[in-house]
Amino acid sequence: MADLYHNRQALDEAAAAVHRVDEDTRTIWFENEDIQAADEPYLLPLLQESFEDWRRETDEQVMLAVGRFVLFDLDRNMIGSAGTIDINEHAEVIAAARLAAAAAMTSGSTEEEHRLEAVAVPVLTRSDRRPFCVFVYVTEKANDFQAKSVAQLSAMHFRTCFYRKFEQLFIKDLLLYQKRTDKEASRRDALFLAAKRLYDQFDVTSVLSEMLSSLEQLYPDSVAQLYLSQDHVNGDPRVKPLVFKNAAHDLVAKSFLEGKLVTEQDREGAKRLAVPMTGKQAAYGVLCLTINSGNWDDADLPAFVLLADTAGTAFENAKLYEQSNLLINELRLINELTKRLNQSLKLKEIFKFASSELLSVFDADYCCVLQLNKELNQFIVTASNIPAMSSEHFSPEYGFSGIVYRTKEPLIISDYWHTRVVNSKLMDNTGARSLIATPILVDSEVAGVIMVAHKSANFFSYDNYKLLQVMSTHIGLAITNASLHAEVRRMVITDNLTGLHARHYLNEQIQSRQRKDPLGALILVDIDHFKQINDTFGHQVGDQILVQVSSIIRSSIRQGDIAARWGGEELAVYLPGIRSDQAYRIAERIRTQVEGETKPVVTVSCGVSEWTFENEKISVESLFYRADMALYEAKNNGRNRIYVGQAN
Ligand code: GH3
Ligand code: MG
Ligand code: MG
Repeated sequence: MADLYHNRQALDEAAAAVHRVDEDTRTIWFENEDIQAADEPYLLPLLQESFEDWRRETDEQVMLAVGRFVLFDLDRNMIGSAGTIDINEHAEVIAAARLAAAAAMTSGSTEEEHRLEAVAVPVLTRSDRRPFCVFVYVTEKANDFQAKSVAQLSAMHFRTCFYRKFEQLFIKDLLLYQKRTDKEASRRDALFLAAKRLYDQFDVTSVLSEMLSSLEQLYPDSVAQLYLSQDHVNGDPRVKPLVFKNAAHDLVAKSFLEGKLVTEQDREGAKRLAVPMTGKQAAYGVLCLTINSGNWDDADLPAFVLLADTAGTAFENAKLYEQSNLLINELRLINELTKRLNQSLKLKEIFKFASSELLSVFDADYCCVLQLNKELNQFIVTASNIPAMSSEHFSPEYGFSGIVYRTKEPLIISDYWHTRVVNSKLMDNTGARSLIATPILVDSEVAGVIMVAHKSANFFSYDNYKLLQVMSTHIGLAITNASLHAEVRRMVITDNLTGLHARHYLNEQIQSRQRKDPLGALILVDIDHFKQINDTFGHQVGDQILVQVSSIIRSSIRQGDIAARWGGEELAVYLPGIRSDQAYRIAERIRTQVEGETKPVVTVSCGVSEWTFENEKISVESLFYRADMALYEAKNNGRNRIYVGQAN
């Protein structure tokens, strides 16, 4: 009984377990359990051990007093024997015991064999009283009655020992079963938690680290690694890119390619498992677990596969979420960009804004926007955060802008230091290593190039590259708008025939200069006897004369001076910051040139006037009035001359 008490705690646990497992077995429990046909393989050791137990518990006195106790199985194989009579000396003891046992087995009750006083007692099962072994007591010369009682009592005692052992075995099984169910339950809980945590993550990096830590919790003595087939930047050293080096020998590659669980045992005895991490749309990588094989239980396998599956779906969800967020952000950005771009119709402003926007969007170090000047056939840096580059000119063949110009395609350079396809002033000046560049297309022609650079290698992603391309389309549209607007404005302020400015533009400009400048001068130019020219040569020739005179005027003045067609054949030049004496000299230059260069020859008369901030009347009207008066005088005094109007 002592052993049974030893196992008290175990029994309590078992009882509790049974209680949980099946409510109906609560009261009857294992007392109703008995050996079954299926238990046959376990019967021999059970009998041997029970016999040992019985021998230990049997009183020494009884043992000495009597003779030999022998246990047979149903096939009459001796299982054990104990006692004072030496079997070797008394071979007939066993023979007698076997005979008695045979008799007992046939009759099913206690049998005696009188050749050597052997009493055989069949030991019966407790449920259906079937003999399952025979307990034999052999003595040399003893009282019949005594021998029979000793045999029966001892057999009963043995039977108790046997069932105790059996129950212990049964409990052990139960405990084992219980342990496994507990483990499975806790694993299920852990998996459930892991799955919940995985689905709670919105970003890919968190999903991956959550999965790896769940794995390490589930399999504490293992090393978990993830091989990703996708391009993903992750600081976790356990996450690696999936490379197909030698697929035949590589467990990870094999698992990915075959889309199933693959296992192997290495020479040190560690077990490696690889299972693809798959979502609904694709396989994203391979989850790999290396376990000291001693700690591995094949029952753990489904949990591992399940976790990989869950992680695959969670990864896919997070990836989709990330992508849609990225898209939303891109749309928002582009929306903002176009809104801002369209607010401005000035090219310079657009380039400047685009440059600062690109720097912040891509978190880049450098940005350079080049505009193609078709007349000069050169790229001109119109916006840049690199002082050394501002207003630089490049041939359309030079550098990366040259490649973009030629191909009309965007490009990405991961590391300029290693792949120096061309020389680049931008990259050399700044020491940058990463570059994305894209053409600005206007009517499918390259109108400019955007270059965005960073000091670190491999800085820009494919997404960055695509986004720059989209952004450049919008910048291109803004440029088209601005150019169209500039063209319309040019048309409005330009006279068609002469290419000089229109009268209203001249008025506007004089007004605005008068607000800023201290002084300025005006020359009115009128062709002499123009009516006659028309009459003689026709209007078309008259027009050509008008064009010739205009171009002489244009070539006689500086940038910043404004020449305009004031009326039919009257032209005007405003000279900011100039006094009338200097204006006179300019008018004189025009006059001589017209006289010398026009074909057919015409002459012009000019009237000059000036204003200074000291004048009381500095209106455009008075300026024109005085110039007109001077012109009138020039005409009256013989034409082909210049008069300067006096300030009144
Ligand atoms: P002057 O100024 O020397 O006094 O004589 P004029 O003949 O030039 O003077 P007037 O102002 O009488 O005539 C100006 C002429 O210029 C009238 C018109 O036929 C001509 N004219 C005005 N605009 C144009 C133009 O756009 N094309 C041509 N071909 N002729 C024009
Ligand atoms: Mg006139
Ligand atoms: Mg005239």
